[in-house]
Amino acid sequence: MQIDPLIRAEIRVVRRVVVFEKGRDFLPIISLVPTEHITAPVIFVGYGIAAPGQGLDEYQGLSAAGKVVLFLRGQPKSFAGRVTHADKVRTARAKGAVAYLTVTGPILSPYEQRRGMTTRPVALYEGAAPAALPGLWITPAAADAILQPVGRSVRSFQEEMDRQLAARSADTGTELRMEILARRLDATTSNVLARWPGADPALREEAIIVGAHHDHFGVQAGLVFPGSDDNASGTAVLLEIARVFATTGIRPKRSLLFASFAGEEQGLLGSRFYLAHPRHPLSAVKAMINIDHAGVGNGHIVVGLSKLEKAAAQAAAEKVAAGDKLELYDLFPGGDHVPFAEAGLPTAAIVTAGPHPDFHQPTDTPEKIKPELLAVVTRYTLALVWALANDEP
Ligand SMILES: [Zn+2]
Repeated sequence: MQIDPLIRAEIRVVRRVVVFEKGRDFLPIISLVPTEHITAPVIFVGYGIAAPGQGLDEYQGLSAAGKVVLFLRGQPKSFAGRVTHADKVRTARAKGAVAYLTVTGPILSPYEQRRGMTTRPVALYEGAAPAALPGLWITPAAADAILQPVGRSVRSFQEEMDRQLAARSADTGTELRMEILARRLDATTSNVLARWPGADPALREEAIIVGAHHDHFGVQAGLVFPGSDDNASGTAVLLEIARVFATTGIRPKRSLLFASFAGEEQGLLGSRFYLAHPRHPLSAVKAMINIDHAGVGNGHIVVGLSKLEKAAAQAAAEKVAAGDKLELYDLFPGGDHVPFAEAGLPTAAIVTAGPHPDFHQPTDTPEKIKPELLAVVTRYTLALVWALANDEP
């Protein structure tokens, strides 16, 4: 899906016009909203939560009809419920809002920190969600410019919210003008699969799947998203492991299936398609290993496991002298391993630790990739694949 490059957004703050620059101040949310020219006042609705039953209704006493709502990503620490971005957009639409702005506050959650996320806007697919509203993901600085007439900042709001859970919504006195044109371009894409047959007659019907998605966002709103870390890096690791087996001819006991998935960024399309059309009986898949974002970071490796022993994941690291570089967690909620985990299969998601500041942005470029990280991840993944493929049954 493409968004036309002619997108513009500007805000008017009492006798002052601030023009938002695409790529610097905001990225458009990628969705199939019809062409829109919007001029409307902006109201700040906190985290955008309307859950009076759970003690927080940030729309209470405000009229959102015909307005643009500005809300933070995530949810307050002390809020007991669970609210997704899609819930917030649905709520905004139900309240009559005509568009939304969303921003990551400067106080990041432990999960966001662990995944190396930052406050910078990132490309986000809403796809063909029927409740889609035109939206922009803006920077905290842009949000602060909108909140400036009411003497607020995103950080002060988060701090107040952390102290006490209460609605702190406000009419910002700011007007947003925005132009958006979304066009849907249909295309065909492919998963690429390669099988390396196992050597053991009794075990070769079993398989280890090694996956990495090869797609990214392409060109959106006239901006190129190179996707070097996400996920040319994982693709390089996958290709190198396949090359090692192919050139040495070494065969583990079990078979290996290399899966270069398509359409991950648009909702795990390739991996979900694979599960619906498996090329190896799913009941004989011993594990699925997914490599995604393996090119930047602090030199450590983060692995999210489901149904695999942490001791086994650690032992593989010791084999390649990376025992002190491994950080082990439970299942990560996003990525091509998720459909496999949902199908009940053991999975490992391998990511480089530390900040990924260019995540889903036009700045995810090749010169930021550290070859030594690719080498560490490749050695580790190869050791894990080898152990799982040769394990005693
Ligand atoms: Zn990715």
